[in-house]
Amino acid sequence: KLSVEDFAIGRKLGEGRFGTVFLCEMVKSNFVCAIKVVKKELLQENADHMLQTKREIELHRHMKHTNILRWFAYFYDHHKVYMVLEYAALGNLLKYTQSLENPMPEAQCAHVADSIAAALDYCHFRQVCHRDVKTVNILVAEGFGIKLADFGTAVHVPSSRMKTVFGTLDYLAPEMVDAETGPAYTVKVDNWSLGVVLYEILTLELPFYRESKCDTADAIRNCDMNTPKRELSADMLRIIKSLLTTDANDRLDLKDLQSDAWLTSQVATFA
Ligand code: ADP
Ligand code: MG
Ligand code: MG
Repeated sequence: KLSVEDFAIGRKLGEGRFGTVFLCEMVKSNFVCAIKVVKKELLQENADHMLQTKREIELHRHMKHTNILRWFAYFYDHHKVYMVLEYAALGNLLKYTQSLENPMPEAQCAHVADSIAAALDYCHFRQVCHRDVKTVNILVAEGFGIKLADFGTAVHVPSSRMKTVFGTLDYLAPEMVDAETGPAYTVKVDNWSLGVVLYEILTLELPFYRESKCDTADAIRNCDMNTPKRELSADMLRIIKSLLTTDANDRLDLKDLQSDAWLTSQVATFA
């Protein structure tokens, strides 16, 4: 059984709402990994947080895919829960994109689209909905390997009504924005969020950005996407718009995205 004593804790890699993530090395093997630490007192304060952390562990630990951040182990002591994860050396996709000197080439964006589509397709096949696909929850490993991370809002679909609104407004699908009053949503909310991610990494702007949250919610409902400041190819725009489709039934399918002729040609030039 593992404990904190087995690890040398290094620098802080990042922070979310409950978790703090540190770079670590296993003392015996020199194996480098990341540890996400969640304070138990934060979980005990709120039953929802407790439930979601249990789901994060139960769902993420069974995910094995090249485009999903690898889960190695978890353990806990009196005060904290520790998740041992693959280390993504280039950080999250937002920070990575902001650090580029020039706008991200479309071929590189196509690689992200292809990678996240593969990760989500794997999740959805297992009836797991991620519900918080956004640039800070996508990590970049050495060699630009793209890894979907943070299963802290994920859910096994058959065991939930999917009426709860999660995530950051800017990335939410229209059916999720109104889920509390409207019908339940489906795994297709993740496809929409991928569309937002692609727009954001190409332009460093959000497609439904408005001065107020109210206006952003309306823009999402009306699918009133901002015109990108940067000129994008017709094919790139076609893919983004088919992910950002109001009716979830008409929204681009992940398999169709992965087999899109233009996308596959772009991915090939990037590799
Ligand atoms: P939270 O659930 O609190 O949002 P995350 O798992 O999303 O926590 O991690 C928060 C941030 O920490 C990420 O956006 C990223 O910048 C950094 N981070 C998390 N895990 C890793 C990792 N394995 N390797 C490198 N950085 C990481
Ligand atoms: Mg996060
Ligand atoms: Mg989380």
